Amino acid sequence: MKVLLAMMSHETNTFSPVPTDITRFGGGRQPLQGDAALNMIRGTGTTMAGLLDAAEQAGASVKTSIAASAPPSGPVLEDAYRYITDTICADAKGCDAILLELHGAMVTQSIEDGEGALLKRLRDENPNIPIAVGLDMHTNLYPAMVDNATVIAGFHTYPHVDMYETGQRVGKVLFQSLAGGVTPVMASGNARMLPHVMRQGTDDFPNKELQARCVELEQDGALLVSLFTGFPHADIYNAGLSVVVVTDNDKVKAKEIVDELLEMAWAERKKFVYEPVPLQDSIAAGQAAAEKSGDGPVILLDHYDNTASGGTMDTTEVLREILNQGLQDVAAFGIYDPQAVDLMAAAGVGNTVTVTLGAKFQMDALDVQSEPLQVTGNVKTISDGRFTIKGPMSTGSTMNMGTTVVLDTGKVQIIVISRHVEPYDLGCFSSLGIDPLHKTYLMLKSRIHYRATYRSIAKEIVECAGVGVCTSDYSQLDFKNVRRPIFPLDDLESNSYKEVVED
Ligand SMILES: [Zn+2]
Repeated sequence: MKVLLAMMSHETNTFSPVPTDITRFGGGRQPLQGDAALNMIRGTGTTMAGLLDAAEQAGASVKTSIAASAPPSGPVLEDAYRYITDTICADAKGCDAILLELHGAMVTQSIEDGEGALLKRLRDENPNIPIAVGLDMHTNLYPAMVDNATVIAGFHTYPHVDMYETGQRVGKVLFQSLAGGVTPVMASGNARMLPHVMRQGTDDFPNKELQARCVELEQDGALLVSLFTGFPHADIYNAGLSVVVVTDNDKVKAKEIVDELLEMAWAERKKFVYEPVPLQDSIAAGQAAAEKSGDGPVILLDHYDNTASGGTMDTTEVLREILNQGLQDVAAFGIYDPQAVDLMAAAGVGNTVTVTLGAKFQMDALDVQSEPLQVTGNVKTISDGRFTIKGPMSTGSTMNMGTTVVLDTGKVQIIVISRHVEPYDLGCFSSLGIDPLHKTYLMLKSRIHYRATYRSIAKEIVECAGVGVCTSDYSQLDFKNVRRPIFPLDDLESNSYKEVVED
């Protein structure tokens, strides 16, 4: 049996001005294909590696297509989308099954549902071939995904530390069905709610309880149960929370589980609303936290500009307030500014430079813009920006920050990078000679993923509302396309998700 294995992953923030071309899917070059792609993903903690191992454990021969994964950013350029999907569809010819790692929230310049369009094409061209899909919890589900796949599974954790396990879960069910052991059928549905990303973590109520229930239902006999909290920074019709359930030939049971989970989520919709506080107050609260006893750094979370949700990673407001309030012994990750990196690299290690950092992207979707920040400091470190991720997220993969410079102002060590990466691994600091455990403060441009490593080492975590296209204040964004009414954009008091109907 020959199975096709491929990855097409992008979380599209339709408010983001960061362009998404084909090289973004391959770390600055064309995405890898064939054996090169296989060698890159084998042994990693990715969904694709979980699918690969499930295939090999089932004795299948694996044909690897493309491994295309881009950090979140604006809508995918048409030619990039065409290149990836043409490659997958051409490679699928003659295969007996198709295994895909997709994201679930890909928007192109012309299509709201990049994954559904790919799956429909694969189904049309290969009508009788089973298709297994592993998806991110931030999937914005469309019917075309469910209609054109055989089995679907999403992550149960956020931070996403079960990517590999998700590939295994969905791959195993597909191979069980190919062996005649089960007959998978799917049901799906969505609730009209747009949970704030900052309230979606699975350490917290209510997503902790929702995902625990999904796991319990799988242990009780459902084949695959996935609740997607959705990605709200996408102004598309189906953005928001949804559920997909796979059972062994029991459509009624699958639908019952979908309803149960959607009602559970709907009942707690107000707990998915995030309330920001003013930036000056947050930085002052960070200072107060640092004065308390206890080990570990105070984390100042610049969550309005999270690159892993499509942020430009170059807004400066949180860093500016840190400097204004005079905080000492800070390491800040980071500011994306390739021009500043070039300038500081040319100056060389040990030299003092004055640079203007950040605010180079115009954010048309926002009324409020970031301002460039002029700083003077010593060039402490120049690095190629590559290291192996220790995990627990994406363990074993290479993180490539691009050429990276540490600029030391005396009080703040500012990490300036030339590729968009989210600091969810300790290596973002330690690979540059900074010990994150022994700084008084760490500024992180992250939202939830940092928790995978930093939460356990932090003395305290202070969430800081800066500026950026990952704002947790929906009133800063102009939603035109998402279906209405939807909570919390609209005040909905119905007791059941089913009672809410189109305006
Ligand atoms: Zn996600």
